[in-house]
This record gives sequence, C-alpha cells and structure tokens, in this order.
Amino acid sequence: MIIKEFISETNKNQMIATLLSHYGVQSVKVKMKSMKDHAHYNVDTGTLELSTRYKTIKSNQVKEFLITIIHEIDHARDAKRYGWRKFKDMYEYEMNYQIANGKDEYKDNKYEIEAEEFGQKNYRKWYRKFKKQDLF
Ligand SMILES: [Zn+2]
Repeated sequence: MIIKEFISETNKNQMIATLLSHYGVQSVKVKMKSMKDHAHYNVDTGTLELSTRYKTIKSNQVKEFLITIIHEIDHARDAKRYGWRKFKDMYEYEMNYQIANGKDEYKDNKYEIEAEEFGQKNYRKWYRKFKKQDLF
C-alpha cells in the first residue's frame, strides 16, 4: 500500500477549483502569500490569499485545509451577494461595533463566526468526496 503523504499541486488545485465553482465564486483568484493567518479573502482584489504553509499539504492537513478554504469562500459569497464595497463597509462596521462593546473585532465578529460555522458544517462531505476521487 502506498501512503500518499504529500498531495500533488494538481490535486490541491483541483479541490480548490471544485469548491470555488460549487459555491458560485469561480471568479475568485487564488494566490499564495506569506502571512500569519492561514488564509485571507481580500475583498478589494477578489483574491483568496493562502498561506505559503499550504504550498504543499499532507493528507493529515486536508481537514484543516478544507475548513479554511470553505471559510474564505463564505466571505467571497458575501462579497458577491452584497457587492464588495458594501460588504467591506458592513464588515468594518461590525468590527467597530464589536470593539465599541469591548469585544474582539475578529473572534466576536458575526461574519467570522458565520464563515467558521460554514466551514465546519460543510468540510466533511468534500473530504469524503475528494477522498473517493483519490485526490488525497
Ligand atoms: Zn474569516
């Protein structure tokens, strides 16, 4: 039995492309970037910025990877739904609202909570599907 420890670039990109297309945000560009966080959706440029730590992923990172991508897709969908300028305002308003209430601008941010729940709720079916397709 061959254990595929590292996932090929092609398979990784196929998973990302499948997810973007399924959630109707196929116009989102993906870029690797050195950053503190795992990923970031840049509303100004419509770019999903992925940490360079995901340059190559191992099979035991797939779960976390999928949650991260689906989380960012939720932000991309919001940007598409409201228009990116409006969503940016809504997001900043929410940050200021949380700060004004002595809370954390990210951890207590409703858009972050929503995106994380979306990722946690949806990653399993993709995990199973991609596994079945032998992508990892
Ligand atoms: Zn987020």
